[in-house]
Amino acid sequence: MDKFLRWKDSSSRTDDEEPSTSVTKNLKKVVKRKYDEDYIKYGFSWCGDETAPRPQCIICGDQLSNESMVPSKLKRHLYLSHPTCANKDKQYFKGCLEQNKKQKKFMKSAVTVSEKALEASYHVVKLIARQKKPHSYCRRNTY
Ligand SMILES: [Zn+2]
Repeated sequence: MDKFLRWKDSSSRTDDEEPSTSVTKNLKKVVKRKYDEDYIKYGFSWCGDETAPRPQCIICGDQLSNESMVPSKLKRHLYLSHPTCANKDKQYFKGCLEQNKKQKKFMKSAVTVSEKALEASYHVVKLIARQKKPHSYCRRNTY
């Protein structure tokens, strides 16, 4: 891949074909790769903008660039980063994806609960602070 890019660079420098190189550059910018439902078999879901989705690894959560939204690159990530999952089928990744979603929901609820708990503890502190006054108030009552 690197060799190919270098070869392309040097050739564009030697040949004075500026119009053609600028056209390919423009095309590269314009082309936005779409997520294909089929990519789940490579262990990838997507995230970000729908017009330029970014492939997201279901297993490790890594986000690749929109340009990597091609089977060869998704496959490469799967085989290199998760060789143990390379032979899994769509159903396996769908299951993983569902679990991830559930985990995210759980995380969210856990966060809100702790926030409420924090709020509650704040109220408790307030109550305790208030209860310090009634101490003398109670004493006054016994008089
Ligand atoms: Zn991954």
